[in-house]
Amino acid sequence: MTETRFTATVLGYPRIGPRRELKRAIEGYWKGTVDRARLETTAAQLRRDQWAALVAAGLDSVPTNTFSYYDQILDTAVLLGALPPRVAAIDDPLDRYFAAARGTADVTPLEMTKWFDTNYHYLVPEIGADTVFSLHPEQVLADLDEALAQGVPARPVIVGPLTFLALAKPDGAGNGAEDPLTRLDELIPLYRDLLARLAEHGAQWVQIDEPVLVTEAGQGLADEAHRVYGDLASAAKRPAIAVATYFGDPGPGLSALARTGVEAIAVDLVTDPRAASTVAAVPELRDKLLLAGVVDGRNIWRTDLDRALATLGTALGSAGTVAVSTSCSLLHVPYTVAAEDESGDVWSWLAFAAEKVDEVVTLSRALTRGRDTVAVEFDSAAAIVASRAADPRRRDPSLRARLDALTTRGTGRAPAAERAVLQAERLGLPLLPTTTIGSYPQTSAIRVARADLRAGRIDEAEYTRRMRAEIEAVVRLQEELGLDVLVHGEPERNDMVQYFADQLEGFLSTQNGWVQSYGTRCVRPPILFGEVTRPTPMTTSWITYAQSLTPRPVKGMLTGPVTLLAWSFVRDDQPLAESAAQVALAIRDETVDLQSAGVAIVQVDEPALRELLPLRAADRPAYLDWATGSFRLATSGVADSTQIHTHLCYSEFGDVIGAISDLDADVTSIEAARSKMEVLDDLNAAGFANQVGPGVYDIHSPRVPAQAEIEESLRAALVAVPAGRLWVNPDCGLKTRGTAEVTESLRNLVAAAAAVRADL
Ligand code: GLN
Ligand code: ZN
Repeated sequence: MTETRFTATVLGYPRIGPRRELKRAIEGYWKGTVDRARLETTAAQLRRDQWAALVAAGLDSVPTNTFSYYDQILDTAVLLGALPPRVAAIDDPLDRYFAAARGTADVTPLEMTKWFDTNYHYLVPEIGADTVFSLHPEQVLADLDEALAQGVPARPVIVGPLTFLALAKPDGAGNGAEDPLTRLDELIPLYRDLLARLAEHGAQWVQIDEPVLVTEAGQGLADEAHRVYGDLASAAKRPAIAVATYFGDPGPGLSALARTGVEAIAVDLVTDPRAASTVAAVPELRDKLLLAGVVDGRNIWRTDLDRALATLGTALGSAGTVAVSTSCSLLHVPYTVAAEDESGDVWSWLAFAAEKVDEVVTLSRALTRGRDTVAVEFDSAAAIVASRAADPRRRDPSLRARLDALTTRGTGRAPAAERAVLQAERLGLPLLPTTTIGSYPQTSAIRVARADLRAGRIDEAEYTRRMRAEIEAVVRLQEELGLDVLVHGEPERNDMVQYFADQLEGFLSTQNGWVQSYGTRCVRPPILFGEVTRPTPMTTSWITYAQSLTPRPVKGMLTGPVTLLAWSFVRDDQPLAESAAQVALAIRDETVDLQSAGVAIVQVDEPALRELLPLRAADRPAYLDWATGSFRLATSGVADSTQIHTHLCYSEFGDVIGAISDLDADVTSIEAARSKMEVLDDLNAAGFANQVGPGVYDIHSPRVPAQAEIEESLRAALVAVPAGRLWVNPDCGLKTRGTAEVTESLRNLVAAAAAVRADL
């Protein structure tokens, strides 16, 4: 096959629309205010505009089929005939698709989980005995036809069979459920068929994504990769194939792919420095086109073009030909810095999707025609890199000195058992104390107040007055329900990360920097650009106000360092551990201020602790070491009589179970209702001996749990944990729920705790 090799591309692009047009159209369609035709026109227009922009920017191969009405893995399930049987009765394909994504009154949706270590979430396909794979290429082909009709050098992007099956879960757990990967051979003929159809429709290239190859599990899939791609490459009628690996070092997978007949392989040369050595060690790459991912697809910093060019030079020594590319799809960054009404300084350091495309093109010109031909672009990039490196906000000597002193002195508190005695004396709580995780329902009054403040219709004083009214209502409700440890309800926080980032030095917020989290949900991650300091207390006035209303203890409520970093764009000029320590110090100062204000309990949430876990096992101990260290740094500034709580948002731990002990929080509340308290056995096995609040009901559903049901959970918990260590709380925060159901659920929770307590 003589394919036309290209020189500049990206692995994928955002799709929600520069002004979130797709989000609005889809949500309108769900509500019935946008009809099908308008939804489809909006989608087609977005695709057209985006392709045109990528061609105009100078890419000579454009990723297509990257559009999705919800999620690319769900699209792949449709492509392969692998939707769950429970949606089969829904006739209309789009409605069936949305039912699988979001559920209906009668149908539970697919489970959603994180896409590798990003903040994007995909829908988990269910593969079981009922799954009969069959090819449904209509959407992929229609997308290709559209692009080719527009004259776009289209390269349709398809999720590969290994990744698709590795991300799927077995359906029918418990009764002989099989690992979906055992079905690999059934998919190969479908992919061969798809390749033939793509070729018939005029595709010169196809990109098949296999990010699973960089993960721990992927290390064992090299032989399978060799077999699958050897087979696909042997197909008589097909486009040239580019297999894309990203999010890390492909390891043995790279050589396995290079020893097949595929024409190109994409490697992420940003995330893991080991990837460059892997590339250098595969002689078979000499016949291939290497898509060298030198522009970071996941972070938002302008590329050091000279450094990237040097990397490309090295890559040229290993591969036959090199095309410049992004490290992964640009799905994970916002559309364009140009959409921000800001300029100067930090803003000039940033590159979002559109700016990254320009960087790719500049690099490819330097590579093919010489650096001189793009000297202006290189010089301006170098000036930006230099200005960033020299910026005083990136190095605060007094902050560093403070951190060094703290680390050398050690951050330990007295042993947990000793602290527990002091705290019990101070707090005087009953056995099985009841509490909640922090947030209460976000009422429309809260949303109106926030909008009024933003629009200038009310001033800060009026806003504070309205928030205090919300806090008072929540405190009164908790007193009336009889909860033991109260919270203020978090009405002033739109988001548990943004709220703190807005108040810390070193973080920047965007106006339009939206990134898709899942479906139509978008987030605007803050940008950590410099040293982190805390100019003033961030939460004390709200918490002390709440405490002034009641004699019962009110918990101070903070977000932990790992979570603050996990949900932000972070500095790339220093290890994450260093940034975490700085954030931890700011949180530590806040805990001390809360304590001085008379607060006896401070909760530091770390729902993202497991999210940042490295994809490769070898990297995990070092991560867990700094992650738990930063939590202890954040929480060890207070007296032993001040009680530290943490909240973790998941129940299946695997590799982080030991880390939960290392956090050394006095009380850990953790999701458990859906795992039926198995989490407690896991904690025991890991030697965890502090107090624990396994969630006794699932807040993700509007269902009100009966008192008997909660009692049963509590009795199950008491089998694993002695009464003196057990707390009673829901699974997670209550902000997405309605006040009526929350009131009823908590009433049952308090009654259940009282009933079980009476039996002790
Ligand atoms: N304190 C937060 C809340 O209750 C915790 C949120 C979370 O676990 N993600 O909303
Ligand atoms: Zn939670």
